[in-house]
Amino acid sequence: MARKKIIAGNWKMNMTPSQAVELINTLKPLVVNDDVDVLFCVPAIDIIPAMEAAKGTNINIGAENMYFEDKGAYTGEISAEMLVDAGVKYVIIGHSERREYFAETDETVNKKVLKALENGITPIICCGETLTQREQGVTIDFIRQQIKIAYLNVTAEAAATTVIAYEPIWAIGTGKVATTEQAQEVCKAIRDCIAEIYDDATAAAIRIQYGGSVSASSAPELFAQPDIDGGLVGGASLKVDFGKIVCYNK
Ligand code: PEP
Repeated sequence: MARKKIIAGNWKMNMTPSQAVELINTLKPLVVNDDVDVLFCVPAIDIIPAMEAAKGTNINIGAENMYFEDKGAYTGEISAEMLVDAGVKYVIIGHSERREYFAETDETVNKKVLKALENGITPIICCGETLTQREQGVTIDFIRQQIKIAYLNVTAEAAATTVIAYEPIWAIGTGKVATTEQAQEVCKAIRDCIAEIYDDATAAAIRIQYGGSVSASSAPELFAQPDIDGGLVGGASLKVDFGKIVCYNK
């Protein structure tokens, strides 16, 4: 069965609650595409007003992060149960900015993935190499390590429902998009790694996004690659251009 594309915006630490509602109202007529699952991952404080603004549209609202414990003395954190109660079905896990600025590791990513799945939330699991790793020729090894640890103790059945975002760190927010060949090569290597951990059916089911300076002009070629099932979009998801990215095939 063909995989449905999934195109997600990652708002990062942008948009107040009222700005979030305004942006959703602007974008909702522009992001209608039945061929694509459309998702806006927004700051925690924006989730509830964004849900309300997106009601009756094809826009799903997701979170940018969550904690791996159920509840308790973890000041400032958000639990899976809180996200579920707010109606959230997707959460970004292990974005490179969380790894860099908030000390997330492959091991905490794995704990979060397990907790999200236990609560029926689809994790969008981020992986990606630095420029040094790419220049040293260790990109695929590095990403295989990230993937293998992220999926520890995840069953094949659960893995098939997850989403992976391949995001080369050197391409995030830099305006420097990976070439179509680079993006496809790594997305295929990720799929091969999933086939190795599980089986061909799981690898064929899992959706793999590319992220890193995706724009309206780069999206059509990237999303036409056999192993790229959509995108995780930062900067351009805050602009009307996001409509063009979502409607890349129109
Ligand atoms: C991201 O934050 O996931 C991202 C890909 O950002 P940008 O599109 O701005 O590079």
